[in-house]
Amino acid sequence: MRKKLIYADHAATTPLSDAAWAAMMPFLREEFGNPSSLHSFAKKPRDAVSAARATIAACIGAEPEEIFFTSGGTESDNWVIKGTDDVLMVSAYEHHAVLNAAASEESCGRKVVYVRPKVGGYLMPETLTKRWKDGVGLVSVMMANNEIGTINPIKTLAEAAHKRGALFHTDAVQAVGHIPIDVRDLGVDFLSASAHKFNGPKGIGFLFIRKGLKLKQLIHGGQQEAGLRAGTENVASIVGMAAALKENCDSIEENAAHLGVLKDQLLDGISSLSKEVHFPGSKFDYQLPGFVCASFPGRSAEGIVHVLDLKGIAISAGAACDSKNTHISHVLKAIRLPREIAEGTIRITLGIENSEEDVKAIIGALKIALSKG
Ligand code: PLP
Repeated sequence: MRKKLIYADHAATTPLSDAAWAAMMPFLREEFGNPSSLHSFAKKPRDAVSAARATIAACIGAEPEEIFFTSGGTESDNWVIKGTDDVLMVSAYEHHAVLNAAASEESCGRKVVYVRPKVGGYLMPETLTKRWKDGVGLVSVMMANNEIGTINPIKTLAEAAHKRGALFHTDAVQAVGHIPIDVRDLGVDFLSASAHKFNGPKGIGFLFIRKGLKLKQLIHGGQQEAGLRAGTENVASIVGMAAALKENCDSIEENAAHLGVLKDQLLDGISSLSKEVHFPGSKFDYQLPGFVCASFPGRSAEGIVHVLDLKGIAISAGAACDSKNTHISHVLKAIRLPREIAEGTIRITLGIENSEEDVKAIIGALKIALSKG
């Protein structure tokens, strides 16, 4: 009998939901028309793209014309960073989609100010204020961190940026579909999202651009997306993204409650395995549902991930080794986690399909991994 595989790496990607798959199917074959064509083959795809835009907008409290389809979180982040000109302020523990886009701008002469999160893993408005520099025109701080799961106080961060005349972008790739989001209440100007993090397909995402704001174009070509982002629409994926997001948003509290129970069991189980374990990012209650970051001092995270993989359990590591060194992620460095602790940091991210049995199996496998010296 094939052993049951357990997927607990939902911050990396999530399985496609049945709702997304069903919504996509017609547009992968029979409804293949180009939404921009003038003939009747265009009608259903064009209507489906409009309906998807309206659905997504409603899920985050936006207007449909504020939603722009992109190829995913990376493109959305790049568009905002490269689509503006002023001094840029970014947090030091952003995803590389933001950090490397900022570095590319820096190499062309643009000034970038990096701000570090607090040791607990949060970026606070007072840090922005303290490090403020003349000319900052855009602040970019992620809504939830992809390695430690901390959720930042986006509303007050956006207020702090606005008070000094800057625009505010949040990379919400890990948060959309998992915690309630209302762009008007948060007061953000730009918000990036990616479908494959909320049970939609890969290679599709969106950028929210507040009405009235302009970004320089990143992808040039035809007149799609109100003339701002060229390229024939990825109709099936857009439709799948909307179906996945709607389903997740409709059951966001139920999902969070289920994941909360599993997370508590996992935290208890892990705590019983080691007296020395640390849980970066878990100090306060602002962490993504189902997200557990655990550090075992003196252990190799990669070694633990390999033992679990051999048992059919997928998790991920915050540090990776090559033949000479252990490389610690920029996130763990930014929160000043001591090397000895950071080297043994793993990330277990549960999803709605995980069960209590899965959690028991993960704890059992971790026990074996930790017993291996
Ligand atoms: N931003 C964050 C916080 C992420 O976690 C990721 C993916 O892991 C991205 C951006 C990139 O998104 P995509 O994979 O859609 O390009």
